[in-house]
Amino acid sequence: MRTPIIAGNWKMNKTIAEARDLVNGMRDDLARLAAGAKIEIVLCPPFLAIPEVATLVKNTPIRVGAQNVHWETKGAFTGEIAAPMLKDVCEYVIIGHSERRQYFGETDESVNKKIKTALTHHLKPIVCVGENLVQNESGQTEAFVGGQVRAAFKDISRDDARGIVIAYEPIWAIGTGKAASGTGANAVIGRTIRGALAALYDVATAQQVRVQYGGSVTPKNATEFFTQLEIDGALVGGASLAAADFAAICKAAVK
Ligand code: PEP
Repeated sequence: MRTPIIAGNWKMNKTIAEARDLVNGMRDDLARLAAGAKIEIVLCPPFLAIPEVATLVKNTPIRVGAQNVHWETKGAFTGEIAAPMLKDVCEYVIIGHSERRQYFGETDESVNKKIKTALTHHLKPIVCVGENLVQNESGQTEAFVGGQVRAAFKDISRDDARGIVIAYEPIWAIGTGKAASGTGANAVIGRTIRGALAALYDVATAQQVRVQYGGSVTPKNATEFFTQLEIDGALVGGASLAAADFAAICKAAVK
């Protein structure tokens, strides 16, 4: 049994004061939902708000994650954040989000390096993969997403692989209001993502890795994804910025 994991990716939204308000508006509901350990809930605020959010959810089952990490652990990398800086305030870190790949030059190689550094410093990676619209419409999803998984997990041991979360996020579904269908996402996760993991490791490992769906998840469509056998929760962008919506999505995952 894989425990569903619902992560809120706040992206570049919320000042420290706004972050405080958002967490205060949903903390009790989220803590109650996560208390039975049937689901994991992770909040991923911008770096500056992480310590505040970590303090607010201390002594609750709510976890905290970052949205990025550098592969080096210190040095002349202006504007970057290193894993040792995060590990005291975070448990998770999102790596290879499509916005980082698109706007900040993130590559399969840098994603792989970041995963290794995160693991070394006991941060749990949430690794994003997903095809764009052209790739989707021209039948390249399997080859492209399978390639991203193989590159991300290059030289990662079986034991480490089991602790990594994958977020399948078709780029055409992110922030567009056009979510994938539950069955469509389930098929890509089952066949392509778990298939790639089974080829890299073995079927048992492929079955243990948690794979979320991400892309325009809302309280309305969440159940469609959470009732699919291969989908283990969601990476939520826009809907994680409203307390009631995020709590409703988490609630849908408990059922
Ligand atoms: C995301 O940023 O990972 C995401 C899935 O965004 P949204 O839910 O807004 O589509």
